[in-house]
Amino acid sequence: METEVVEIDAKNITGDAKRHLERAGEIIRNGGLVAFPTETVYGLGGDALNPESSKKIYAAKGRPSDNPLIVHIADMEHLERIVKRVPEAAYRLSEAYWPGPMTMIMEKEDLVPYETTGGLDTVAIRMPNNEIALELIRQSGGYIAAPSANRSGRPSPTLAKYCIEDLSGNVDMIIDGGQVGIGLESTIVDLTSDIPMILRPGYVTQKMLKDILGEVEVDRTIIDGNSKQKPKAPGMKYRHYAPKGELKIVQGSQEKVIEYINDEAKKAKDSGKRVGVICTDSSSNKYLADSVKSAGNRNDENTIAHELFKVLREFDDEGVDVIFSESFDDSGLGRAIMNRLLKAAGHNVVIL
Ligand code: AMP
Ligand code: MG
Repeated sequence: METEVVEIDAKNITGDAKRHLERAGEIIRNGGLVAFPTETVYGLGGDALNPESSKKIYAAKGRPSDNPLIVHIADMEHLERIVKRVPEAAYRLSEAYWPGPMTMIMEKEDLVPYETTGGLDTVAIRMPNNEIALELIRQSGGYIAAPSANRSGRPSPTLAKYCIEDLSGNVDMIIDGGQVGIGLESTIVDLTSDIPMILRPGYVTQKMLKDILGEVEVDRTIIDGNSKQKPKAPGMKYRHYAPKGELKIVQGSQEKVIEYINDEAKKAKDSGKRVGVICTDSSSNKYLADSVKSAGNRNDENTIAHELFKVLREFDDEGVDVIFSESFDDSGLGRAIMNRLLKAAGHNVVIL
């Protein structure tokens, strides 16, 4: 299949951009696939109410079919049609954080095929905060099933070029809307349990959810990487975001971390390996390695969220064999950053 790539500026959806989106909507209504930008990461979209479209999404990504897709909507009326009941908490959270990087899980209505929910009786729903995504959803009939637009297991794409790399030939269209704003996937909150529970940490933090709902729990498996329990979001059990090189996270005082990484980097280089380091602005001139990349500024975690997946992908492009990463605070947005980094590293951590 030939994949068409179109560029659209989210701030100016008129003329050609509008026509591209009308055509993209038609592709989705006819059962095709379109990759598009959201504020979190790029999504791989198909008609959420068409079981054949969902099957195509799994095939294009190489994703296990028990890993459910998130349904993207553009207005609240559409929400009411695909769930059995909209819980009070969902109205309050949507008022506070939609459109935005928060996905809510509710009981699904029969209209939503099991192919989209990975066989579950619940459905994950989000209203993205990006004009290209919202207009595409409206043009597509109101419901786009969209996981991240990467090959399964690879870092989520924050730029269209990574969608092109992973999906060319397997999707009908890729919409290039530039680098995404947030850079990490949405927070997932399950509203089907007595107390709402975070199944995947994201930009909307536990504190932000508690501010609206009072009590909010976190799935144990997110906090405890060695937990033998099964994660409640099926996708969280899979190795994810992994770069091609071996990634190790180093925890400790900054001084010790720098010393350890420089020692290990030298050993790896001496044995003929290419070495990469993930650090922050304040330490980037302290490392000796083939490739040293700052993920951002420790005092502004948004910058780290924004760059993390891109940095992992760049190491792949550079053919790096071993990557050492500094560690980040595990609170607020840091929890989402560390969750992705730990998964990318397969929980390979040294504590000094
Ligand atoms: P992605 O869209 O690739 O970021 O992945 C979607 C994530 O949402 C995966 O981790 C899924 O397991 C999770 N998810 C989607 N639907 C449900 C659901 N009904 N219940 C629990 N988790 C879900
Ligand atoms: Mg994903």
